[in-house]
Amino acid sequence: KVEKLKKLKDLPAITPDGKKVMLAANIGTPKDVKSALANGAEGVGLFRTEFLYMDRTTLPTEEEQFEAYKEVAEKMEGRPVTIRTLDIGGDKELPYLDMPKEMNPFLGYRAIRLCLDRTDIFKTQLRAILRASAYGNIHIMYPMISSVEDVRKANTVLNEVKAELDKEGIKYDKNIKVGIMVEIPSAAITADILAKEVDFFSIGTNDLCQYTLAVDRMNEHVKDYYQPFNPAILRLIKLVIDAAHKEGKFAAMCGEMAGDPLATVILLGLGLDEFSMSATSIPTVKNIIRNVEYERAKEIAERVLNIAEAEKIQKMMEDIIKNIE
Ligand code: PEP
Ligand code: MG
Repeated sequence: KVEKLKKLKDLPAITPDGKKVMLAANIGTPKDVKSALANGAEGVGLFRTEFLYMDRTTLPTEEEQFEAYKEVAEKMEGRPVTIRTLDIGGDKELPYLDMPKEMNPFLGYRAIRLCLDRTDIFKTQLRAILRASAYGNIHIMYPMISSVEDVRKANTVLNEVKAELDKEGIKYDKNIKVGIMVEIPSAAITADILAKEVDFFSIGTNDLCQYTLAVDRMNEHVKDYYQPFNPAILRLIKLVIDAAHKEGKFAAMCGEMAGDPLATVILLGLGLDEFSMSATSIPTVKNIIRNVEYERAKEIAERVLNIAEAEKIQKMMEDIIKNIE
């Protein structure tokens, strides 16, 4: 089976009835590009940039960041690379930043909230990303967006940085795509509004589950409450994908669910355009997509939205993919 999956590397992720989707990789450092390409990733759907900021005593310089982003863009040879701006806070602390002690760090000073407060840090990163965009196909993605104001504020900073680069005569991709993570319920529920202001969505199911179901994603004691197949989550996913399509934008997913074989047929049927996952999951997900009719996936997705129990949905999906060689 492993051999068979390897052979899929250069084949497209297309259903027998011709529905094509994109399978991309989540990466954490430039080193991960090798495995992404070896597993047939058609892009990087999530480049987590936290590694640049962690395990050190000072902020990374613009130059250091530029080199890392450029390296990934070049190695991906024109395939899209979605760079997520800093998602620090929550469980990930930076000792040198002197962050506030918080009662609920996951509901606190985190990600885009920190960046909009510390625009010095944000601007340095955006400058590095924009400069690297001259060397490949880079997209920018903001994490932890909760409202349209967040998007507008972040874009204001981005436009300031672009104006600086213009003034300095530094080249960058003037048509760079800008999207957001949809990982907070308020963003999912207002996806119709947000879709007008961004180029794409990427659904972050890890946090979307945590916030929608009010369950700490790291807490063993409540792990049974953490249910990606809960109908509340599936309905939000549908809402987000439909809202994107209504505005002619694409809908991606980069949370763990995107690489879960039990979710593949449902997400395909809901119309997800891009699945981004750890590279090693790509062959398995591709194999499922190449063996399920899109028309059937749509029927299954529709049926699943009306099943009340997550466990029942998972059992049903196990049966459906069981017969795929
Ligand atoms: C998510 O929340 O689903 C996600 C992809 O981001 P992270 O796991 O980095 O929070
Ligand atoms: Mg997240």
